[in-house]
Parts: sequence; structure tokens; C-alpha cells
Amino acid sequence: MSPLEYHRPKNLQEAIALLQAGVPLAGGTALVPQRRRLQAVIDLSHLGLDGFQVQDGRVTAGATLKLQALAEAGPGVPPALAQAVRLEATRNLRSMVTLGGALMACDGRSPLVTALLALGAQAAVHPGGGWVALTELLAGRGDGSRWLVTALRWQEPVRLAYDQVARTPADRPILCAAVARAGDGSLGVALGGHGAHPRRIADTTPEEAPATARRAYAQAEDEWASAAYRAAVAEILVRRLVAEVAG
Ligand SMILES: Cc1cc2nc3c(=O)[nH]c(=O)nc-3n(C[C@H](O)[C@H](O)[C@H](O)COP(=O)(O)OP(=O)(O)OC[C@H]3O[C@@H](n4cnc5c(N)ncnc54)[C@H](O)[C@@H]3O)c2cc1C
Repeated sequence: MSPLEYHRPKNLQEAIALLQAGVPLAGGTALVPQRRRLQAVIDLSHLGLDGFQVQDGRVTAGATLKLQALAEAGPGVPPALAQAVRLEATRNLRSMVTLGGALMACDGRSPLVTALLALGAQAAVHPGGGWVALTELLAGRGDGSRWLVTALRWQEPVRLAYDQVARTPADRPILCAAVARAGDGSLGVALGGHGAHPRRIADTTPEEAPATARRAYAQAEDEWASAAYRAAVAEILVRRLVAEVAG
């Protein structure tokens, strides 16, 4: 095994400058098992990126905030988001896994990323430091670029609802859905359970959302479920969640 180059930058500029040298190391729960193929890591733990604040209805959470801290953050974290966080990983893992790590390492079966997509969350991405929609970030993962996510932000919804179908109540979902109603009445709908990452359904109406969800998963076939099953369940879950956020 080759020796591991370990960097622990003390500020963001240093971390960004190191991005070409190694990969970001957050909670390490996905990265450490890949130790044999790693040459250099950039430990994010001394960058002070674990803050959480709510201001004027906008929630901003640091990329190295642990999932357990997010679940317990209180105002700014609706019960359905806390539920999705708890379904993302077990209690022990939640004390290590970070928000940024969960986002960058997720697959399609992530309850947390499904809920964040429904909320229309954005991520602060470096180099550049601009805010990009999670849909864009997820679509660009794996293109070989090295990015550093420093924070996520979302607008507090009027209501957020989440539900899933899985083999057992605490298992990763075969199909999950989240629906957020914003202050202006608009709906954010996202589906998970299949593919490389959960998907946000383009802006839709309460009347159209269930059928749009069905169409979105019309080809969502894999070893866990048929596309016909997923499409049918997606329509039912989204119909229920739309009714829940309307109430
Ligand atoms: C026992 C066990 C069970 C697990 N079960 C599951 C499971 O059921 N489903 C599942 O999906 N995962 C599972 N995982 C994997 C892991 O828990 C998750 O993928 C987790 O979300 C990774 O978060 P982390 O903070 O530990 O990230 P790390 O492991 O530190 O990093 C993960 C990846 O994200 C990148 N990264 C991290 N932070 C940033 C950032 N701020 N900016 C840019 N890139 C960043 C890293 O470079 C790396 O590529 C499991 C892990 C363990 C140990």
C-alpha cells in the first residue's frame, strides 16, 4: 500500500489550493474503506464548516455538519427532514457522516438527498464559491473535477412531507418521495430509490404531480423492483404527500 499524503488545511484558501493534490476527507465513512486507492486526502475538520443558522426563513448548514447534529438542530429542520436524516444512516454513522459527504457520496436511495431536492436546496461549491442547485451538482458528480462543497442552503418551507417504501421500516428505500410547499404556494417534488442519485421533478402543480411522478419512474427498473411497481407507488406516494402539504 502506498503512503497516504494527509493535509489538514486551516482555512478555505489553503483547502481550495490543495484540491488538485487530493480528495476532501469529511466523516471518512465512505472514503476510509477506499484507502488502498487513495494517494492524498484533505481533512476538512479544521475549516469551521459545521455551522447551522436560520435567518429570515433561509437555512444555511455547513458541509461538515454531522447528520446527527442536523437531525437535532430544531428550528429550520422540519420534522420530515429530521425523519429523512434518521433514515439516511444509523445513530452511530450519523455521528460521523457529514452533510457534504452524504451529498457527494449518495446513491439514488438517499432519503436525505431526496428531501433536500424537494426543498430546492443549493450548495456553495469551490473553486468559484457560487451557489448551485443540487440537481446540477449531482448531475456533474463523477465528471473528474475536484470540488469542495462548503455549505448547503434552502428556504424554510411552509410544509415538507416525506414517505418511503422499503423492505423494513428502517431500511434504505426501494422508492421514496418528498414534497415541499413553499411560501409562494409552489411545490417541490423529488423521488428517490433508484439510479445514481434522487431526482427532482421539474416544477409541477398539485394536480399534475402524481402523474408526473409516475412518468418519471416509468423506466426505473433494477434488482430491487420493477419499473411498473416503482411508477405505480411513486404516483400513490406523491398524491398522499401533496395532500399532506396542502393541509
Ligand atoms: C457501516 C457503514 C454502512 C454504510 N451504509 C451505507 C448505506 O446504506 N448507504 C449509503 O449510501 N452509504 C452507506 N455508507 C457510506 C457512507 O456512510 C456515506 O456514503 C456517507 O454519506 C459519507 O459521508 P462522510 O461524511 O463520511 O464522507 P467521506 O467518506 O469523508 O467522503 C465521501 C465522499 O464525498 C467527498 N466529500 C466529502 N465531503 C465533501 C465536501 N464537503 N466537498 C466535496 N466533496 C466531499 C469525499 O471526497 C468522498 O469522495 C455506509 C458506511 C459505513 C461505514
